[in-house]
Amino acid sequence: MPASGHEGGLQGTATGRETGEGTRAVRAGLPEPLKYEPTLPGPVFAAHYHLPGEPTGPYTYGRDENPTWTHLERAISELEAPGRPVESVVFASGMAAISAVALSQLRAGDVAVFPDDGYQALPLLHDQLRAYGVEVRTAPTGGNAQRKLLSGAKLLWLETPSNPGLDVCDIRALVGEAHSAGTLVAVDNTLATPLGQRPLDLGADFSVASDTKGMTGHGDLLLGHVTTADAELAASVRRWRKIAGAIPGPMEAWLAHRSLATLQLRNDRQCATALTLAYALRERPEVSGLRYPGLPDDPSHRVASVQMRRYGSVLSFTLPDREHAERFLDGLHLVDDATSFGGVRSTAERRGRWGGDAVPEGFVRFSVGAEDPEDLVADVLHSLDGLGFTGNRRTG
Ligand SMILES: *Cc1c(COP(=O)(O)O)cnc(C)c1O
Repeated sequence: MPASGHEGGLQGTATGRETGEGTRAVRAGLPEPLKYEPTLPGPVFAAHYHLPGEPTGPYTYGRDENPTWTHLERAISELEAPGRPVESVVFASGMAAISAVALSQLRAGDVAVFPDDGYQALPLLHDQLRAYGVEVRTAPTGGNAQRKLLSGAKLLWLETPSNPGLDVCDIRALVGEAHSAGTLVAVDNTLATPLGQRPLDLGADFSVASDTKGMTGHGDLLLGHVTTADAELAASVRRWRKIAGAIPGPMEAWLAHRSLATLQLRNDRQCATALTLAYALRERPEVSGLRYPGLPDDPSHRVASVQMRRYGSVLSFTLPDREHAERFLDGLHLVDDATSFGGVRSTAERRGRWGGDAVPEGFVRFSVGAEDPEDLVADVLHSLDGLGFTGNRRTG
């Protein structure tokens, strides 16, 4: 699908000014208004399309293209790179999108540089890549540590802020070094969403995300996307989707598009409350290792404040041990003990229960929803009070 040449959507106002983010979110990807047609056409359920004669696109078979994906892909492109001709490709999940970039770009003998503190399923991908003869090198996100491993690399994979540690690396600086070495750069933008950070504007070749999280924000579907300004790279990723068949259902794609309309509203509320909660938590003696890139004294803040427009809905902190963390989660009434993040309903979990991340036993990843901030902070403080912690104020 060419990204340009569609009439709908919104690239600017009648006065030629670039539109604001809220305006862009509510109008993203909408087709040209047609009398008696809905604003956002409903999901198209089709395994195949009427196709007499020569089989030319855009719509031939359901694994290749679907009009509901097309609308969503245009919407995502308008958010990822406003006013620029880029292409987005949607996938059944974030891991499908990540795998599509890695497996379409890397060949036996290539070198790929990944974070060692990224999403917990990345090590599975590393093992698979190694089995295919790819050399995988890893280093932490913080301190731009991956830059030291770039020699001879085909692909640099960044995840910033990283999940769950919330470290941040300097995308523009790393892209500069990678590109001068001929290395492609992909950024997992899941935590930030395109309203928090635009990797393509910072020079990255691919912006990749799990749209299961804050992008769609209701905790009711899995989805992923890849966006790139390079038509050849887009074609290779689209080809991979066809090969692997990791396609989203039309219903999920439509729900996702519907959810994008509130992306700015949700982001503004969730990010503001996350900062409020971070300030409340840092006064607490039982909380250590509090991380939120929006806190002015957070180790990530300096770089984050340059490349991010919003700091996200997730914060992390550590309680003294596993038992305190479990009792804290049990004592919450407005926060579900559940994995994933970015949804309108707050969730939190003891991340160590999965065994995949290098985190302390008492480490809690907390995703701030759209509840009233006073209610959420009161619920969290009440649960902490219930721990009856009497230790000294912890540092760090
Ligand atoms: C959740 C997540 C993924 C995987 O996404 P799925 O939609 O669950 O496949 C990838 N990267 C990050 C940073 C994530 O948080």
